[in-house]
Amino acid sequence: MRHVKYVFVTGGVTSSLGKGIIAASLAKLLQAQDFRVTIQKFDPYINVDPGTLNPYEHGECFVTEDGAETDLDLGHYERFLNVNTSQANNVTTGRVYKSVIEKERQGEFLGKTVQVIPHITNEIKQRMLLLGNSGNYDIIITEIGGTVGDIESLPYIESVRQLVWELGKANVVVIHLTLVPFLASSGELKTKPTQHSVKLLMESGLIADILVCRSDRPLGKDIRHKIALFGNVNAKDVIESIDVCTIYDVPIKMLEEGLDVQVLKKFNLNPTGQVDLSQWKDFLYRIKNPKQRIKVGLVGKYVELTDSYKSILESFIHAGAQLETQVDVQFIHSEDIDKQSAIDLLQSLHGVLVAPGFGSRAIDGKLIAIQYVRENKIPFFGICLGMQMAVIEYSRNVSGFVNADSTEQNSKTDFPIIDLMTEQKSIATKGGTMRLGSWDCQLVAGSTVASSYNSLAIKERHRHRYEINNDLVGQIKDDNFRIVGTNPKTDLAEVIEVSQHPWFVGVQFHPEYKSTVSQPHPLFVSFIEAGISYKQNI
Ligand code: GLN
Repeated sequence: MRHVKYVFVTGGVTSSLGKGIIAASLAKLLQAQDFRVTIQKFDPYINVDPGTLNPYEHGECFVTEDGAETDLDLGHYERFLNVNTSQANNVTTGRVYKSVIEKERQGEFLGKTVQVIPHITNEIKQRMLLLGNSGNYDIIITEIGGTVGDIESLPYIESVRQLVWELGKANVVVIHLTLVPFLASSGELKTKPTQHSVKLLMESGLIADILVCRSDRPLGKDIRHKIALFGNVNAKDVIESIDVCTIYDVPIKMLEEGLDVQVLKKFNLNPTGQVDLSQWKDFLYRIKNPKQRIKVGLVGKYVELTDSYKSILESFIHAGAQLETQVDVQFIHSEDIDKQSAIDLLQSLHGVLVAPGFGSRAIDGKLIAIQYVRENKIPFFGICLGMQMAVIEYSRNVSGFVNADSTEQNSKTDFPIIDLMTEQKSIATKGGTMRLGSWDCQLVAGSTVASSYNSLAIKERHRHRYEINNDLVGQIKDDNFRIVGTNPKTDLAEVIEVSQHPWFVGVQFHPEYKSTVSQPHPLFVSFIEAGISYKQNI
């Protein structure tokens, strides 16, 4: 039987070097050689999952098919590989401790003192091997969040060290991602931070097999030699990762640098020599050579940190590539929108997306933006909270229910057109308790969305507590405002459309989680198409 192979990606020097993109790029190259590969991320923070994190802390929370609230890097994995991840692909220190403590309470370790080593490290190792044991994969790539040297990372690094020993060198490869900065004052690239980082890793007992070096310019032969010598690796194992204009260039760069070949050699696996990236290159060509551009506004309250909307932004890139269109996204803080500023902020746009969100801050700006684009017939796409706001806006300004509101923002409203779902009413805890993951939705034939999907039965991912109130929505529905998608089992309204408008769609689910490079999401494609024709007709 062939052994499952494990790649671990650690990071040094600073955070945000792009371990997730390197991991996803390597996975892409291995997948293109017919290896069955998946990626998982281990995060050293104590939250059980990122679901309770404010987007400002850690960017978007990505939701998987099986309803796990995960790190945004899992979004990259899915977008690069076009395969689904799951709850098992994202583990945090909080989850590890929770499970060890629960076992302790059940008496599993009876008589023993429960300690970081071996109990926490055993739990980590077991989770690191879980997907490998499923028989579904040849290679598992595990990204260790954080930076080597962080106190929080130590149990993870120690677990990898033990796995190298237990599984043998031929089955485990350690990639260390570091920074090689250019010092303007001396006019040189500096290798010392990399040397220190490798040393720090060694102090924890782990030897890097491959060093991926982020830099803003080519490393050159001498620098590569120096890094190899002091980093204790072969020259070919010094991989340059130069800054590129799009993350989608990284697999091509890694192919040129031979990252996949070096990894496979260490596993005694034969590189096929044929890495078919033709589709990927075609996609890259399309994003770099657009035939037209449109301007789309993204209205939200977390726009200062664009990572909060990562999947939406990537969905625009995927859909734009399909339509050979560059989508210039203008971030608009909903706090900045009032009746007066709406005109200046929105009038030159070819489409407006009102983003998901929580709470009551900066809600009014969203409602004003929606009224403006509805009345001025600018294509509109509302996602989750964005859809809920569109329903409130229509109820107030068209149907005449001036007090219409969501109980999330105003619990005392006498027209709660958006209300807490019944099953949510008894839930008091916050973590992992929303309506999450993939649910069926039945679309109405002849609707804009049905023609976008070219199907009437769809499945989309969710993350919400509130819903359209079916007891009241009958009073809103008219010839123009329609519910065109419902959950077939619960009758929960999932999709709304407003007609007499070029494109006005709101969805309770999150289509952005399912857009990938090879399968742009049909609703994003349709929205961009509407933006293109809107631009052509003004
Ligand atoms: N806050 C809203 C709800 O919980 C919308 C959530 C979202 O936009 N993801 O229903």
